Amino acid sequence: MLGLGALLLVEPVLAQQEVLLKDSDSEAIAIEYRSDAATVDTAKFPKYAKGQTCRSCSLYVEEKGASTGACGIVFGKSVEAKGWCSAWEKKPG
Ligand code: SF4
Repeated sequence: MLGLGALLLVEPVLAQQEVLLKDSDSEAIAIEYRSDAATVDTAKFPKYAKGQTCRSCSLYVEEKGASTGACGIVFGKSVEAKGWCSAWEKKPG
């Protein structure tokens, strides 16, 4: 009895496992995403300014207390709060 109930509860949890965007993913390369803004090559990306991260981007959807979140232009994968990409836009406020 418990076995079937436990199985039914576990399956949706597994289906919701987070997939993190990697720097090497094609969609990451397209937006020049770095999973750690501290590694942004400022010579290559002069638009980048220290302090810019996904967390401070208007396209970032933060989950309270999480180190990762959703991005409005990345579908099906999460991004690092400390990440950055060339589409960064200052979060209002
Ligand atoms: Fe991060 Fe914003 Fe780029 Fe999305 S658009 S990857 S939240 S910097």
